[in-house]
Amino acid sequence: MLLSNAHTHTLPVLGKEVAICQGSAIIADNNFYSVGIHPWHINLKDIESEKANILKTLGNSGIKAIGECGLDKKISSDLRTQNEVFEWHIQQSYRHNKPLIIHCVKAYNEILNIKKNNAKSPVWIIHGFNSSIEMAYQLIDSGCILSLGHHTLLNNKLQNLVKELDEHVYLIESDTKDYPILKNIYETIAHLKNTEIETLALIKLKLFKNIFQIADL
Ligand SMILES: [Zn+2]
Repeated sequence: MLLSNAHTHTLPVLGKEVAICQGSAIIADNNFYSVGIHPWHINLKDIESEKANILKTLGNSGIKAIGECGLDKKISSDLRTQNEVFEWHIQQSYRHNKPLIIHCVKAYNEILNIKKNNAKSPVWIIHGFNSSIEMAYQLIDSGCILSLGHHTLLNNKLQNLVKELDEHVYLIESDTKDYPILKNIYETIAHLKNTEIETLALIKLKLFKNIFQIADL
């Protein structure tokens, strides 16, 4: 059984997991990655040289997504700068035809509005989705995919959402957690869906390959 992991900061467990690793976790060549500037790092980094570094890597066939990037209203860096940096990632996503992995904290309405102006963009994946059922459907209706992580283990509202979600609109991720938590999230979602973890794993793997344009594993 291979568990697909749409977003992680650690390397996958070989033979058990296939993952889109955040760029800073780049160690091995035979892996899949996303590259981008996390909103938390906007103040810490020389943005222009960071952009240049990202552009250099985008030709690598292992890079399957742009991100994580996005908007975070809980941090100190001003929203205008965050918006500019996010917009740059959106443009790279078009140019290289790769999905975007989006970090969003208390800015779901802003993300939704920007998405409405980018109706024909490559797929946007809302990583670690943790908002209302209403927002979930607004994002899905605008063409976004949700990526469900550890919040799903404890949040009753999210669990109710999962029960009714179509299989084509969500992926599963571990983010900063390790493989045992990923497996735990799969077990929880399989239970909510009244199915076996093996069945869920196959469905998610198919969607994962489709979204990240991975032909063979
Ligand atoms: Zn992350």
